[in-house]
Amino acid sequence: MSWLAPLLLAASIAQAGGNAPPTGAHADLPTALPPVDAATSLLVVAPHPDDETLCCGGVIQRVVRAGGRVTVVWLTSGDAARLVLVLMSRSLFPSEAGARELGAQRMQEARAATARLGLSSSAQIFLGYPDGGLSELIGAHRSRPYASRTTGAAAVPYEDALGPGHPYTGASLEQDFLEVLERTHPSLILAPTPLDAHADHRAAGLLTQALGARYAPVRYWIVHGGTGWPTPADLLPGIPLTPAPLARPLVPEAFGLEPAEEDGKLAALQEYRTQLRLTAPFLLSFVRSTELYSLRAF
Ligand SMILES: [Zn+2]
Repeated sequence: MSWLAPLLLAASIAQAGGNAPPTGAHADLPTALPPVDAATSLLVVAPHPDDETLCCGGVIQRVVRAGGRVTVVWLTSGDAARLVLVLMSRSLFPSEAGARELGAQRMQEARAATARLGLSSSAQIFLGYPDGGLSELIGAHRSRPYASRTTGAAAVPYEDALGPGHPYTGASLEQDFLEVLERTHPSLILAPTPLDAHADHRAAGLLTQALGARYAPVRYWIVHGGTGWPTPADLLPGIPLTPAPLARPLVPEAFGLEPAEEDGKLAALQEYRTQLRLTAPFLLSFVRSTELYSLRAF
């Protein structure tokens, strides 16, 4: 049995409307983020390029400004964004090489976006696992390599990833993630909730809960929070983000952004040109006066 089996069961109970208790060893802490100062070492776990800015662009800037350390780890390179691939290749059947090019392009966009938020290149870590395949890795492909449906790769194909050539298995993903935790010594981790509608986000949340919570307190956020969310889908700086329907069991708390931090978040998002072509209203609707975080995973 996988170490994830109990977590997957808990997630399915929560999604079915069950009342899972607060999880982890930090259940006695208040929900709000711990104080941010020069001693803070923040690790943001992003399933895809752009998630780190959508969820956490404000907190990232605050920690940088306080003199703390911030690292972003991207688990995938976003190489399965099908509509973007169709547009880029002008074909309904994009090539595997085209998908890898998109991955490389999205990694460049992520570097530019997080540089806007104050991160140096050494604080930008790409693992290069398959977009759309993380739940397969932590499920049936823990030891048997998975082949990406878009890139055709069964191992990390990106030279500037943490482990080029590492097999697409759950065990390898886990090992790379543990290496990031050992390298960064986080004092706070921000990760997606396993209640997110996107399977990669759910897998990233379960992975963090299983491994990251041993290293530091984890706070959870949501990006795919239910149809139509964030509401309204538009660039509306200065108004707070409303809680997502799917995150209701989490009782999230607000982290307030200063106007300059909202501007910084917008500037970072504007680096994601491949994504803005198709989903600009959705992406820009995360530029609000608050970001929402929860102590609870489910
Ligand atoms: Zn994502």
